Amino acid sequence: MICRDRQPRHLAPPLRYLLLQLIQLAALRSAMLHEKRETRHRYRLLHERNTKLQWLAYTDPLTQVANRHRIEQVLKAELAIASRNDTPLALLLFDVDHFKSINDTHGHETGDRVLHRVAQEALSQLRDSDHLGRWGGEEFVVVAPGCDLPQAHELACRLCHDLTQCHIEPIGQVTASFGVAVYQPGDTSRKLVQRADRAMYRAKRAGRACVRTQEAYE
Ligand code: GH3
Ligand code: MG
Ligand code: MG
Repeated sequence: MICRDRQPRHLAPPLRYLLLQLIQLAALRSAMLHEKRETRHRYRLLHERNTKLQWLAYTDPLTQVANRHRIEQVLKAELAIASRNDTPLALLLFDVDHFKSINDTHGHETGDRVLHRVAQEALSQLRDSDHLGRWGGEEFVVVAPGCDLPQAHELACRLCHDLTQCHIEPIGQVTASFGVAVYQPGDTSRKLVQRADRAMYRAKRAGRACVRTQEAYE
């Protein structure tokens, strides 16, 4: 606020008092505007940091897909939806075949690269509504809402086939074995994963690079 006159002039005390009040008010308002801008800036920074922290907490650093903690959360949430709405939900579990020998032959770093590529290849084949996560080691899980058993089987076959079409330097072809299970009334996430896991081991026993679904009686 600027008060200017050619000649210094004497102001009556009530006017001086009023002007002083006005100046104090203007100073206060300016400080508050500054504080508001600062608060907005700090809020934006906090929001960015929170987003990054959440990403770090939810993401597997090696493969850049959801980590075990996150995919378990997602699976529980999708199970609750499937149970409430009586809609289908599928779980695919797949494990890279003979991965130990990839590590042994080409080194751990190459093994890491293979895991990253496998995850990204699988991700590129999924719908936006599907979720991919690293279950552990060379094992991955797909949570596919709205997918019944025939559709989940088809999806697993496609993922299994697409992986065989991938050329990963310097190994060439990598395969994986798939187990498929679908939500049944009364399921917990543990029961669903167990059925997919048993199916995946049947795929291993059947010679690997193939898909097996849960048994009808399970
Ligand atoms: P199978 O076909 O029966 O699945 O055999 P496999 O060799 O794939 O399975 P196995 O359980 O014998 O070996 C898995 C290997 O995966 C052993 C472990 O050292 C390796 N592994 C686990 N996590 C990682 C990782 O983050 N990076 C790398 N490079 N290797 C990993
Ligand atoms: Mg394996
Ligand atoms: Mg394994």
